[in-house]
Amino acid sequence: MEIGYNDWIMRSFSLFIRCALVSTCVVLFGLSSCSSIKLLLQGGEKQVKREPRPSEPGPYILIFAFDGVGYDQLMEALHSGKAPAMAGMLGREEGYGLYEHAYSVPNAVSILPSTTIAAWSSIFTGAPTAWNGVAGNEWFVREDMKFFAPVPVSVQEMDDNRAMITEGLVSKALKSPTLFQQAGVKSAVSLNPVYRGADYFTLVDPVSMVALYTEFLAHPGGENSPEKVDIYEKLDKESVPKLLDSIEDHGVPKIQVVYFPGIDLYTHLARDPIPMEVNYLETVMDPLVAQILEAYRGYGVLDQTYVVVIADHGHTPVLKDPQHALGTDPNGGPAAAVKAAGFRPRKFVLNPGASEQDYQAVFAYQGAIAYVYLADRSTCPKAGMTCDWKRPPRYTEDVLPAVRAFYNSNKTGKPIPVLKNTLDLIFTRRPTRPGKNTQEYEIFDGHRLVPIWEYLIRHPRPDLIQLDKRMEWLSMGPYGNRSGDILLLTRSGLNRPIEKRYYFSAPYYSWHGSASPQDSHIPLVVARKDFPGTKLKKMVNNVAGLQPSQLALVPLVRALLTSELAPGPVLPIVIRRSDESAVPVAKSPSSSSPSRPTSGVNEPAAAATSNRPRRPLGWATR
Ligand SMILES: [Zn+2]
Repeated sequence: MEIGYNDWIMRSFSLFIRCALVSTCVVLFGLSSCSSIKLLLQGGEKQVKREPRPSEPGPYILIFAFDGVGYDQLMEALHSGKAPAMAGMLGREEGYGLYEHAYSVPNAVSILPSTTIAAWSSIFTGAPTAWNGVAGNEWFVREDMKFFAPVPVSVQEMDDNRAMITEGLVSKALKSPTLFQQAGVKSAVSLNPVYRGADYFTLVDPVSMVALYTEFLAHPGGENSPEKVDIYEKLDKESVPKLLDSIEDHGVPKIQVVYFPGIDLYTHLARDPIPMEVNYLETVMDPLVAQILEAYRGYGVLDQTYVVVIADHGHTPVLKDPQHALGTDPNGGPAAAVKAAGFRPRKFVLNPGASEQDYQAVFAYQGAIAYVYLADRSTCPKAGMTCDWKRPPRYTEDVLPAVRAFYNSNKTGKPIPVLKNTLDLIFTRRPTRPGKNTQEYEIFDGHRLVPIWEYLIRHPRPDLIQLDKRMEWLSMGPYGNRSGDILLLTRSGLNRPIEKRYYFSAPYYSWHGSASPQDSHIPLVVARKDFPGTKLKKMVNNVAGLQPSQLALVPLVRALLTSELAPGPVLPIVIRRSDESAVPVAKSPSSSSPSRPTSGVNEPAAAATSNRPRRPLGWATR
């Protein structure tokens, strides 16, 4: 058989990753004690808790976590008749999200940015981004001058991706307790990067996983076709026997997360993203769901199991060319704009060299959103000087010149022509001293900062769902500075023609990250065999409230776990951090909705925010 150039590249790369994984292991643990080598090379199970909990009686929670599956795409697959396992789990449809044995929340939304790592971090902590500290697929921790890229978008290096898969980089970065820590029951996670506090984490051969992410990043093969589904299918498919083996060995956990990341990577590179994603749901995912449900039936626990389906975000088709992909060209694009405003931009690399530490502006890309972090340039006026990143930028001398460069480039093409008409909104705010909670982002209107709610009253934007509330989640809190000093939102959404949609990344066929319905409207389904859908609807609504979001998953699972106990108060679990007093993190189902009252998914955000009661933000931090 002839080996093509791309195969050769992938094989060489595979060998490189294998060596890198082994050497990481050697450095970390010492070769003789490195029991993880087998896991790193072949995948399997990692015991996360030193002393795993014993098996417990039901009810059990089985969470299907679908990466990048929008609400409408899941519904299309369910209605097509080609996803019999999922449709059968829900039973007959009765309208308004109600099914014979399920409730599918009709208006659940993601957090912002609607991107993978930020969204799963919020889903599995119940805490918004400014509180859990994981701000995106990439982010910059200014106090440490450290850039994180567990899913690289603006950089090429795969080191953090490898660390996410093999060393729990995302789990470690989280500042809020996870679902598994909060629920305190036997839990297992397949593939999802958020697994801290679970008893077991199962994964496939990490070499294939990193290689697949690398292929996604470099996409040497160009584009996906329905035939090329197999390499992504392999990742999702191979995860199932690993997690079932773990269950065979240790019993059914109270919480099992089944994460399928392949569909997201596939959709980014699919020439006709939306129908091809639906096809992947029907042909790849539905049989895997069937396999797991069948295993639960075989274990004799299916009728004691709540099955939950949730996703991190949807996908919006875009044009795969350098005009629409606002990339990393230092001489034309976002970096050039800050350069024109007199900043030295950081190189788009994971770790700049010793002589490249004098940067004054940093970018982290999230698809439809980019974060721009600025230094106080008075601490590093000359090239070669390292800025004091512990200090916030100065508003007038640092923030405003950069904001104006973006605003003017977008409006007039000056000073940066390629940015003309690419941005929808430019957010910024007055910088906050370290150690203080940051303020919410506001909108720069060319003259001044306008609070989002005020802007939306004057410029209603029903195409940006719950923008004010979700920007507050992103920007206001102890880690709110991780979303930058300026936030750029591109023109995006299905309401615009495809040639008028832009994104921060290399070129792809689809992206996400925005506040548009297509990116933000997610499935949130709870099903249980032989349970009436009406009962499930009541249970979900009690927790998720009128404006359901991803942040409802943790309180929802906790409520489902206690649903068959005699009624009584839910006792808070108390987790102590060294620098503050004990913080209760559990919320009783009745008080668990993390959202302040605003509109439903299809209502104009302006109407929602005109009467905006401020509630104190009470999300716990680690
Ligand atoms: Zn994703």
